[in-house]
Amino acid sequence: MQIIVLKESFADEIRVALVPESVKKLVAAGNKVLVETGAGESAGATDTDYEQAGAEISSAQEELLQKADVLLAINRPADASLSKLKKSTIVVALLRPLDEPEKLQAFIENDLTAISLEMIPRTTRAQAMDILSSMATIAGYKAVLLGCEKLPRMLPMMTTAAGTIPPAKVLIVGAGVAGLQAIATARRLGAVVEGFDIRAAAGEAVRSLGAKFLELENVNAEGEGGYAKEVGEEIMESARELLRKAAANTDCIITTAQIPGRRAPILITGEAVEAMKRGSTIIDLAGANGGNCELSKPNEIVNHNGIFIYAPTNLAATIPVHASQLFSRNVTAFCNLLATGGALNLDFSDDILNGSCVVHQGEIRNERIKEIFNTK
Ligand code: NAD
Repeated sequence: MQIIVLKESFADEIRVALVPESVKKLVAAGNKVLVETGAGESAGATDTDYEQAGAEISSAQEELLQKADVLLAINRPADASLSKLKKSTIVVALLRPLDEPEKLQAFIENDLTAISLEMIPRTTRAQAMDILSSMATIAGYKAVLLGCEKLPRMLPMMTTAAGTIPPAKVLIVGAGVAGLQAIATARRLGAVVEGFDIRAAAGEAVRSLGAKFLELENVNAEGEGGYAKEVGEEIMESARELLRKAAANTDCIITTAQIPGRRAPILITGEAVEAMKRGSTIIDLAGANGGNCELSKPNEIVNHNGIFIYAPTNLAATIPVHASQLFSRNVTAFCNLLATGGALNLDFSDDILNGSCVVHQGEIRNERIKEIFNTK
């Protein structure tokens, strides 16, 4: 199959879907890989690196689009690019089908097949393809660096000739993949860390990283596939109150709480922000889905009474080399499901392909997405 990779079209997106090490593997497996000129330049991969790995480089984007059997991308390609693909071309990317189902229209209109990498089931067999975990790991790490860099204090306890400096306190809200990485990073930097999650099972993981687990008694909102499920307003009120009290005693809060396909829950209220000391920081990783902090504004720095609040929606892209490397390895593992001996072969009896293929030859084939698409 002919796999193409373009320079990403979203503003500020400097990752690339395939890095040269993966090109080598895909070519060895019998595929042809074509890469747009300069596609990897901000992610540490030059055109020469791609050529040496066996890819063909071209600056003729339209020609590339017409040649593709498979278009690999980080984000949903521009509608203008989708309209130039051949019918039935397979587009593999992070498509946000639960959050922006209306954007699937271009795949339907152009009779394309859309694979949403977010929809890959979180099973043991699919672990090598788990892009959400790869990107969440990077975002969790970077969130701590951002939040702590803005603090007017250091993280670790220091005993000096001028006396002892107490450690900073960091609170992580949502202990999934990003949250656990944030806890580990803040601990390594010497902070005293607390973690909160609505899933009781997260407690063990939080404690194993040396952090204290803040718990709501008798609450366990574990839903399908290990994800959290929505809880009633009474439980949410208790969670906000618990976090408001913790916030007053915290220097940096990192929030990561999400429920797939829903607005992110508001957990840090304006009142909780106002309870924090001046100079404290909040990094909200749920910004793309509305944010966990009531005062967050996606991609804008908010200064509320001296509290720094920032909700970057694409933090993984700020570490483009490693983010591209992990994305590329994950997507390459996925490509093995699309072909046998280098020839395209979509086998929908495979649960990973079945779960992630949201549009097939212009038809929405995932019942949940069909329902959301029709009601939007
Ligand atoms: P996510 O990004 O959907 O959510 C982040 C965290 O927010 C989750 O831990 C969730 O419980 C929490 N959350 C949601 N609502 C909340 C609320 N109101 N208050 C507090 N916390 C709230 O989750 P994720 O990081 O993608 O991980 C989801 C699950 O999948 C986890 O159980 C994780 O361990 C599991 N997982 C499994 C695999 C695998 O088996 N291959 C891989 C990765 C993740």
